[in-house]
Amino acid sequence: MLQQTQAATVVPYYNRWLRRFPTVRSLAATTESDVLHAWQGLGYYTRARNLHRCGKMIVEKFGGRLPNDPDELKSLPGIGLYTANAIAVFAFDQSLPIVEANTARVLSRLFNIRAPIDSTSGRQKLWEASAKLVPQKGARHFQNAMMDLGALICTAHNPCCQICPVKKFCRADKPASLPRKRQRARTISITEWHCFRTSGRTILLERCRQRWRGMWMLPKIQQRNSAPIHRAQFSFTHHRITLEVFRGRSNRLTTRQRWFSCHQLNRIPIPSPHRRAIIDLFIAERGAGLHPQRS
Ligand code: SF4
Repeated sequence: MLQQTQAATVVPYYNRWLRRFPTVRSLAATTESDVLHAWQGLGYYTRARNLHRCGKMIVEKFGGRLPNDPDELKSLPGIGLYTANAIAVFAFDQSLPIVEANTARVLSRLFNIRAPIDSTSGRQKLWEASAKLVPQKGARHFQNAMMDLGALICTAHNPCCQICPVKKFCRADKPASLPRKRQRARTISITEWHCFRTSGRTILLERCRQRWRGMWMLPKIQQRNSAPIHRAQFSFTHHRITLEVFRGRSNRLTTRQRWFSCHQLNRIPIPSPHRRAIIDLFIAERGAGLHPQRS
């Protein structure tokens, strides 16, 4: 959950998640739809699908226990070098390097790494630097200290070098100019059209493919037929997406479309921009008494 998402946002999701899936076996036994529903609002749904697959594999291949070997951890879906090492260090106190946002900044300054830290050579230098520093014993405390150093002293802007406990080892001559990063991909603006079609107390939704695979959204339309009744913007990777919703017409349903009652909407996974649109349109249409819950 913490990949790409701040801890303050994650905490309530994490607590709810543990109440819903208290063991790895309960996670493995549930449906993908339930997993996506528990994750909705956090975004980057590939993480949820991977966690689900990971739970299944831990049960099938490792008898329901998380392995402590970093190579076995890396064989699990969604677990790369950083996550495998972080689990091995913090859960099993193994002596392994870790490079994440805070430690990357500290390491790039301590070793004066000028290569962009999001380039292959920059990443390699950071991992080598971390491997040089990590002690054989007490790696868990060391890595925690590195993260705290980055979060509290060696901050992105105005690092507090005067009070830094590792100042005498630091090779950075201009700390604030590090770390370097490659130029970011240009933001691309796109507009997507969807329809809001209701019948009595039901609403038509469509099973998503691609971006929100396995979730339910307002049906896509190819042509605008009038002025939009809802408009909102959201970001997805390097895209700035404008969601425009139009009143739906009575076309034939496709195999991916289904009618849902308001009650059912609270139990199925719906991406946040579409859930917000549905709530606003239901409120506008029927008043506050009949609409799905915000989540
Ligand atoms: S001396 Fe300054 S730049 Fe170097 S690690 Fe400490 S805070 Fe960061």
